Amino acid sequence: MTISFQGIRGRAAVPKEPDPATKAALGWTHSARFLTTASQLDQLPASEIPEIAFVGRSNAGKSTAINRLAQQKRLAFASRTPGRTQHINLFEVGPKDAPDALFADLPGYGYAAVERSAKLRWQAVMADYLQLRRPLHGVVLMVDSRLGFTELDQRLLTLMAPRLVNGEVRLLVLLTKADKLNRGDAQLALQKAQDHLSSISTESSDIAVSLFSALSREGLGDVAVSIRGWVHPVKVRSAAGSEAEEATRDADIGAESKAEPDSELATETDTDTDTESDSTPT
Ligand code: GDP
Repeated sequence: MTISFQGIRGRAAVPKEPDPATKAALGWTHSARFLTTASQLDQLPASEIPEIAFVGRSNAGKSTAINRLAQQKRLAFASRTPGRTQHINLFEVGPKDAPDALFADLPGYGYAAVERSAKLRWQAVMADYLQLRRPLHGVVLMVDSRLGFTELDQRLLTLMAPRLVNGEVRLLVLLTKADKLNRGDAQLALQKAQDHLSSISTESSDIAVSLFSALSREGLGDVAVSIRGWVHPVKVRSAAGSEAEEATRDADIGAESKAEPDSELATETDTDTDTESDSTPT
């Protein structure tokens, strides 16, 4: 079974001192910096650098999660100026002179106030991106832990399914705002998500689901380790001597990253509690 349940482990108290692999992975996500913005696919750079896309329904907590991962207050918000909301924003990650991944922030969907023609146009761009974008390595799908998969989330999964089932594109579902759930409800949310994802899970797929809270930082380190592992799989030698690629928590995979001191992780306290009323999915 290829669905993993980081979230159950994530219910444990967030460690004050991240282990070396987590620290390295957070150092890597921290290096994210704005690269460019595109309103259609042919405006995206023609690079081969692996891309990790962040997608989700509007208000699911995507911007907050990206900012938390990057440990920067306004990285994702910076691109939320009017008129640019229907763009793919790309961020470079890794060493400045040799970025090894791009984060692609796709606009949130399902917000009722968006004009229909703009919505349709954007849905087409997003569908093309998820189905056709060659460097796309993995997708981080934000789902509000209290709501579960909405109809639009399900449509998005169906759209991506051909690339998910064969493992070409990896998927990490983040059940966001987990701080709002008690333990029992969190387990239930995870179970429901697993049930839903089992239909697209195969021997070849790489699909995971995790509870996540930008507020409490639950799941934060695991997410950083997971997505870094997508880009930095390491060769592991089995007892029989054959090699296989596997994402690992080994500290040495982070050797070249610029891990930040712990204090950096602790200083960001800008995450608001959820004060917005939920938008109507359309
Ligand atoms: P986006 O539209 O998906 O980018 O969503 P935002 O990141 O703007 O978040 C939507 C709302 O949820 C905001 O009011 C955030 O403060 C709130 N929010 C985001 N993450 C969390 C979280 O982990 N816990 C809580 N309690 N609220 C959150």
